[in-house]
Amino acid sequence: MRPGRVIDLHMHTTASDGRSTPSQLVDEVVAMGITTMAVVDHDTTAGWDEVSAAAAVAGVACMPGIEITAVDHGRDVHMLGYCFDRNYPELVTFLSTQREDRTRRLREIGDRLARLGVPVDLQGAMAEAARSAGRAMGRPMAAAALVAAGHVASIREAFDRYLAEGRPAFIERQGAQPAAVVALVARAGGVTSLAHPGKTQKDHLIPDLVAAGLPAIEVYHPEHDAAETARYRQMADTFNLLVTGGSDYHGVGSGRSQGLGQFYLPAADFTRLAERTGWTIPC
Ligand code: AMP
Ligand code: ZN
Ligand code: FE
Ligand code: FE
Repeated sequence: MRPGRVIDLHMHTTASDGRSTPSQLVDEVVAMGITTMAVVDHDTTAGWDEVSAAAAVAGVACMPGIEITAVDHGRDVHMLGYCFDRNYPELVTFLSTQREDRTRRLREIGDRLARLGVPVDLQGAMAEAARSAGRAMGRPMAAAALVAAGHVASIREAFDRYLAEGRPAFIERQGAQPAAVVALVARAGGVTSLAHPGKTQKDHLIPDLVAAGLPAIEVYHPEHDAAETARYRQMADTFNLLVTGGSDYHGVGSGRSQGLGQFYLPAADFTRLAERTGWTIPC
């Protein structure tokens, strides 16, 4: 049974690799009966103003968020951040560097794909994206270009054959350690949550991250099965961590559109998070 209050703290918009603009996303959120939302675009807060304006009009509560890509031994570790000061200078500089590295990486992916004999047209999409201030580019743009060029039939196939970790067009990123992200978001007045740990497969990092001040983990996520959800719930209890969760919705056509309105955070967990962050409505 769905709760009276439906809380989804993990969604993406066109400010990063979601397919819905912030306003369109709020319309979808309303249609799905979600009452509290957080947009967590990759390495950018560029969607916040439009989300918060649209959410206010729609009567949806909105918590400010982000999904920062940290790196541990060459592998991506996604860190959610909530309720921080988006204008904190050190964070502004950090996020801008993160986005520059995303652009560098995408360019190298384009070069690599050409060498692999599957050339794509990424210039147009990158130039278009560069026109929106704060827009974070990412591999889904290369995936869409592979589909458009007819080299693969779907976004999923583009990742499976070329873009996923360990595949021939995977390019490593440069980025901060997860513990450095925890500390930076804390200095900016916010809290971090280790995103979808079941997908990241870096559980061995959790005790050290907790020691470094990690306040939360994402327990509810579409890529966690029932056993993983139970295990991370238990881990949150063991380490006295706050719990977050959401659908990781990227919009229709993203290859990752499952779950809007189906993956939500229990209200009791949200209340604890809201208390810790000092969150007030509206965002
Ligand atoms: P990046 O931010 O450049 O590292 O790209 C990662 C993003 O690509 C994820 O946040 C997803 O939106 C998307 N992604 C990763 N794997 C897949 C997949 N197998 N199918 C569709 N989208 C994917
Ligand atoms: Zn994404
Ligand atoms: Fe993620
Ligand atoms: Fe995400």
